[in-house]
Amino acid sequence: MDFSLTKKQEMLKKLSEQFAVNELEPVAAEVDESHTFPEENFKKMAELGFTGIGVSRQYGGSEGGTLEKVIAVSEFAKVCMSSAAILSIHLIAPQAISRYGTEEQKKKYLPRLTRGGELGAFALTEPDAGSDAGSARTTAIFDRETNEYVLNGTKCFISGGSRAGVVIVFALTDPSKGTRGMSAIIVEKGTPGFTVGKVENKMGLGGSETAELIFEDCRVPAANFLGKEGQGFKIAMQALDGARIGVGAQAMGVAEAAVDLSVKYANERVQFGKPIAALQGIQWYIADMATKTEAAKALVYHAAYLADSGQPFTKMAAMCKLNASENARFVTNLALQIHGGYGYMKEYPLERMYRDAKITEIYEGTSEIHKVVIAREVMR
Ligand SMILES: Cc1cc2nc3c(=O)[nH]c(=O)nc-3n(C[C@H](O)[C@H](O)[C@H](O)COP(=O)(O)OP(=O)(O)OC[C@H]3O[C@@H](n4cnc5c(N)ncnc54)[C@H](O)[C@@H]3O)c2cc1C
Repeated sequence: MDFSLTKKQEMLKKLSEQFAVNELEPVAAEVDESHTFPEENFKKMAELGFTGIGVSRQYGGSEGGTLEKVIAVSEFAKVCMSSAAILSIHLIAPQAISRYGTEEQKKKYLPRLTRGGELGAFALTEPDAGSDAGSARTTAIFDRETNEYVLNGTKCFISGGSRAGVVIVFALTDPSKGTRGMSAIIVEKGTPGFTVGKVENKMGLGGSETAELIFEDCRVPAANFLGKEGQGFKIAMQALDGARIGVGAQAMGVAEAAVDLSVKYANERVQFGKPIAALQGIQWYIADMATKTEAAKALVYHAAYLADSGQPFTKMAAMCKLNASENARFVTNLALQIHGGYGYMKEYPLERMYRDAKITEIYEGTSEIHKVVIAREVMR
């Protein structure tokens, strides 16, 4: 399989790397520490076309597909996992609207979510419906008189939910049918009855806000209905397949950076009269870290290749996310260890990378749920 990048993809990699180093890295620690969404950098992402990856140029997008997302997200993750997560999760909304939206919805929302600099969010999880997303209870009941859907319920842990202009909300249009009664609806910020509740205080990803969204008799025009009635669970699962490759890219990027930082530090740090890089114990750590990270990268690229070539990719998306996220935890842990006490200090990025890497084993489906998906696919 040939994973070499085209000239255009090489250019995107260079642009992503430059943007990451020049704009994201200088504020990465501050963004995390202060739990502040990097507003200015998100605007710049939009100006440079990152927020329109996978969306047609006709609607303000930058074209490209999954591999382009992997390239940008992994480069961002090398210096700032919050920014990588922000981009990766934002892209779910414009890509879902591109795939399932009506022409009217595409014209209305895609330019705003691409070059327009508005953030998108994906609201599936509820307080009592996490891994078991099919047990969600938020309802969207159709009101024939006004031609509106009336939403009631609470979503939790929604990335970017506190500032997103456009949120894809999954709700039951027919509660008697379970997952087959779930639908997807586009809800705009400021819609009466839609409020932001608790903004979470998290272990990592400080720059990516995670919020509770509350819907109380929130009336949304029928024109905002995404896809067909009862198609919501399928839309959510398909969106998650693509999103999981994005998480794989976050995990791959943070691991690559942790390997590079470890090599640099091991060459510089002198103990017992020689650089610690000369110690075989450290060399073996680095050999393991580099090998597993290359393997993680191969699976992420393989999943992206399947997705972009129109082949089934549910299994590979789950495999790449499971493997890359476990590797990101393993590698950032060893990288911190190689940095010794300095790795534990906030002057170095290792402790942030270690905290940030952990989330990749939890969101867009936990590792355990990925094993459920993989086993189902493998054992069919
Ligand atoms: C920072 C952050 C950002 C997030 N962003 C979003 C977002 O933008 N949109 C959104 O909709 N959601 C989002 N989530 C929610 C996330 O996807 C869920 O937290 C995740 O799916 C797990 O659900 P839960 O937290 O309820 O855990 P639970 O489902 O309660 O799981 C608890 C434990 O039980 C295990 N478990 C559950 N079921 C099984 C099973 N069948 N077999 C084996 N083990 C099992 C889990 O793996 C886990 O270890 C976010 C979460 C976080 C932390």
